[in-house]
Amino acid sequence: MKVVIVGGVAGGASAAARLRRLNEEAEIIIFERSGYISYANCGLPYYIGGIIVDKKQLTLQTPKSFGTRFNIDVRVKHEVLKINREDKSVLVRNLDTNEEFIETYDKLILSPGAKAMYPDIEGIDNDKVFSLRTVEDTYRIDDYINNNEVNNIVVSGGGFIGLELAENLSLKGKNVTIIQLSGQLMDQVDSELSSFIHPYLREKGLNFYLSTTINKIEDKNNKLNLTLSNDKVLEADMLIMAIGVIPESKLGKECGLKLGIKDSIVVDEHMATSDKDIYAVGDVVQIKNRISGLDSLISLAGPANKQGRIAADNICGIDSSYKGGQGSSVIKLFDMTVASTGLNEKVLKKMDIDYDKVFLSPSSHASYYPDSTTLNMKVLFEKKTDRLLGAQIVGFDGVDKRIDVLSTAIFTGLKASDLKDLDLAYAPPYSSAKDPVNMAGFMIDNINKGILKQFFYEDLDNLIDRDDITLLDTRTTKEYSSGHVDGFINIPVDELRERINEIDKNKPVYVMCQSGIRSYIATRILANLGYDAYNYSGGYRLYSIIHDDKIASRSALPCGKEIR
Ligand code: FAD
Repeated sequence: MKVVIVGGVAGGASAAARLRRLNEEAEIIIFERSGYISYANCGLPYYIGGIIVDKKQLTLQTPKSFGTRFNIDVRVKHEVLKINREDKSVLVRNLDTNEEFIETYDKLILSPGAKAMYPDIEGIDNDKVFSLRTVEDTYRIDDYINNNEVNNIVVSGGGFIGLELAENLSLKGKNVTIIQLSGQLMDQVDSELSSFIHPYLREKGLNFYLSTTINKIEDKNNKLNLTLSNDKVLEADMLIMAIGVIPESKLGKECGLKLGIKDSIVVDEHMATSDKDIYAVGDVVQIKNRISGLDSLISLAGPANKQGRIAADNICGIDSSYKGGQGSSVIKLFDMTVASTGLNEKVLKKMDIDYDKVFLSPSSHASYYPDSTTLNMKVLFEKKTDRLLGAQIVGFDGVDKRIDVLSTAIFTGLKASDLKDLDLAYAPPYSSAKDPVNMAGFMIDNINKGILKQFFYEDLDNLIDRDDITLLDTRTTKEYSSGHVDGFINIPVDELRERINEIDKNKPVYVMCQSGIRSYIATRILANLGYDAYNYSGGYRLYSIIHDDKIASRSALPCGKEIR
């Protein structure tokens, strides 16, 4: 059997290694357009930031070492130009010699990844405009910074790659401004969670314009002048485009394979395309979202690696299938960690799913043990079925562990209230006897049983200034005086029983405290006394974070020179 693989990084290298482990006889050829194989795409921003200093760390495998270990014919700087499905062959160009030749296959695996999206704007074709995808791109950016006077860098795009680059460039001492199309950074999480990210990044010296695009690029006096959609003009020494990726599916498209979203290649659960002898994996394929059941694109390393293995299994006669993706992801932003899994509220709204949510802010480990930090967690679930739909966490410690528990719970189909029963490891340096994931489960269980009724930030506009309800803040008088939401009266929770006569029993009571815990206790006191009481999710802490971020985001200042 002869297997040809296009693309020798996450999906392609994974498929090749698995093929060899399953079949010692197969002839396996990898064609890789760049000069490197099995390189660490995910580590590239950290080389630019100087955290990874040794070039060899990015390219742990060389074509020779990979070829020798797995007895694979690895040909870097070889681009596959065309697939001929009739005679099962590919046309290949050796990029060193420009020689073109034909290679036949019994099975073909496509893992060409995705390419950086470039908007169609005037001036984009400029040698001070970069994107980051390959090792070569990394060296290009790094060399440009080191060999030119580069102080002000604009990054277009506030997603994973844009923010990792912004962090690393900032650690290198550069002034970085991010231009982001949507109204928040990190679109994977909902806006309450990004409200924690924004002030932290501002504090770290990053600047960003939200709801803004670059409309025009001009090169003047060896500087880029970037005209923004808000009519401001920024001067920058270089621009890095990180506004997203699109499947690199030209080969599949031209040979007539069935295509899906953004021309991605359609595959079945075995990673087979519409041609039974061609498999496709990684960023180039359309997959099923495990939770929504909808066709989706998920451009992440985990799915690509797993899919490569699955394609190899099936080519070798082993029945393996991809179970769908749920987009679990994590990112480090300086000392902060942001992670998410499943569907977020924005998507659930679009899908018209009848969901509910809890927001909580537990400690990463027992608060009496030194150095605990706060986790900001949001968990979403379906009202009628109690199905877990998604989770998002922003914090400093223990974020990755909780998101992976929640991701596993979603994957295995646990009910949201089952989270309360999970038997999770505990000692004070690591967690609390009731782990944050258990806490989310307790809250959801309370909601399902009618013990906890909630209201949210987005409900406040309709509640303030109404005289048919009572708005109650149960924090201490000192906390209340240092800031509260208009219209809320103050009765500290510990005085509530003795001052209960101050609250009209005929009106629903909307209760707030700092984090949601004291107000929950207050709602229980009220409910047990016959009141109709609602707890403000996330407390005044969440309210003020969202409120302050809204104001700050309106008045963002750029790092570079604002010309107009
Ligand atoms: P790739 O790994 O991109 O490999 C595709 C290869 O195919 C490329 O090397 C390309 O040169 C080659 N190729 C394309 N066309 C041809 C052709 N015609 N002929 C020959 N060769 C061809 N994911 C995470 O989960 N976590 C992270 O932290 C993370 N960080 C990232 C950081 C950066 C800077 C980047 C760029 C990506 C990051 N990703 C991360 C995404 C992850 O790297 C990709 O999802 C994954 O590599 C996709 O695997 P793939 O095999 O589909 O494509």
